[in-house]
Amino acid sequence: MESEEMKKPVFDQEAGSLLVKELRANFAAGKTRSYDWRVAQLKGMIKMMEDHEPEILTALRDDLSKPELESSIYEIALLKNSCVLALKELKQWMMPEKAKTSLTTFPSSAETVSEPLGVVLIISAWNFPFLLSLDPVVGAIAAGNAIVLKPSEIAPATSSLLVRLVGQYLDSSCIRVVEGAVPETSALLDQKWDKILYTGNGRIGRIVMAAAAKHLTPVVLELGGKCPVIVDSGINLRVTARRIIMGKWGCNNGQACISPDYIITTKDYTPKLVDALKHELEQFYGKNPLESKDLSRIVNSNHFARLSKLLDDDKVSGKIVHGGARDKTNLKIAPTILLDVPRDSLIMNEEIFGPLLPIITVDKVEDSFNVINSSGTKPLAAYLFSNNKKLKEQFVVTVSAGGLVVNDTAVHLAVHSLPFGGVGESGMGAYHGKFSFDTFSHKKAVLYRSFAGDAPLRYPPYTSKKIRLMKAFLGGSIVGIIRALLG
Ligand code: NAD
Repeated sequence: MESEEMKKPVFDQEAGSLLVKELRANFAAGKTRSYDWRVAQLKGMIKMMEDHEPEILTALRDDLSKPELESSIYEIALLKNSCVLALKELKQWMMPEKAKTSLTTFPSSAETVSEPLGVVLIISAWNFPFLLSLDPVVGAIAAGNAIVLKPSEIAPATSSLLVRLVGQYLDSSCIRVVEGAVPETSALLDQKWDKILYTGNGRIGRIVMAAAAKHLTPVVLELGGKCPVIVDSGINLRVTARRIIMGKWGCNNGQACISPDYIITTKDYTPKLVDALKHELEQFYGKNPLESKDLSRIVNSNHFARLSKLLDDDKVSGKIVHGGARDKTNLKIAPTILLDVPRDSLIMNEEIFGPLLPIITVDKVEDSFNVINSSGTKPLAAYLFSNNKKLKEQFVVTVSAGGLVVNDTAVHLAVHSLPFGGVGESGMGAYHGKFSFDTFSHKKAVLYRSFAGDAPLRYPPYTSKKIRLMKAFLGGSIVGIIRALLG
């Protein structure tokens, strides 16, 4: 039996309370507020990546068999870009923003001051375990907060590497990593935070939000959903197929929140699209994709069983038109395309989050909008491939989603001037670039007045003339004020 000393220390309610107390004291002492502290942390994070890239790649390979290109570009380079952007823009972001004033408070000046929220909690998911853990931390640092990060236990190699590297490169008096699963996260969620950013599924999102509500803590929920891809005819089919494949199988083998979840296309166009997808898939991953080094594995046996169940559903098992091969021992599933699966099948009623891609057919491409909207949930991302200007306009107006991309998939994630976040079931709040800074800041309204121009009309005794004049002032029109003065 394991001796008491050998057991990992338990992170419980009491440990959570002590940790928050310590960070709150350091925050209150003003440690995180200065521009210099923020810059030092962001530079520390860049150095951490430069010094330890091979270890990060190894951890991601251990957790997910993630191909090196995907790890070094989608996890490390994207995070480095976030740090570089924050370093470049931080002075500007931190500057108070002048605001207009009105006649009501004349003479006065006003500004919006961005202040840090305090001590924030970031809970991340396993699929991009490095980027999704640290990218929100960049925003929280830039905004001047103390931070606790709880990485996902489902990516244990990355989680333990994060504890070690963050402890080594960032100021541990104000930035901590707590490892663990449900008990540890629950102990953290019992504490009072100034903001919680959670990435993961909606079921746990509800637990996070309920815990936050007890303390009136605001939350950002970065959730998922079924991201549709509409494919019109008259397009560049080869480019379309390649871009769908990259968004689906090229992003962690479909285990990404913005991966295409299903395709909608017309009955007439389906054979051409399926052929193009099959052809490009073979070009990318060879005849036996289970052996390809360029595809991640399924993260663990639970998720492998979940995906197998979707494939083995009686309603869809006969609908496979490409792929379908599985290797249980190595947790690999080949890129798999299914055609005309029933809408009431399991695969069409939950987020797939894996290498299976169903195709739904419609008579007219315009009917696709109705398929998406009638699902009752708003996706995290929706994609359209088309050359038709009117259809593109209709897509933007009709489809409500966290983000839309026309003629590509998933790449909007890399555009830092766009907010990244969901709507409805796919989440609330957003981050990336300046949006990350704003998410972790309070926008404090500040109005400056002088002692001059003290208008007696706001003071008692109240008269009808004062009421008229006050109304005119609030209306802000000079003519109205003259009228009120003249009675
Ligand atoms: P996960 O299992 O890693 O869980 C996420 C976090 O929740 C982990 O840190 C975990 O420890 C914690 N957690 C689990 N159970 C808990 C509980 N009972 N109480 C408190 N905390 C708990 O990740 P997941 O949920 O499998 O992630 C996949 C989902 O996340 C998909 O729906 C995907 O679309 C979504 N996702 C969204 C984004 C985004 O940016 N919007 C990014 C990645 C994944």
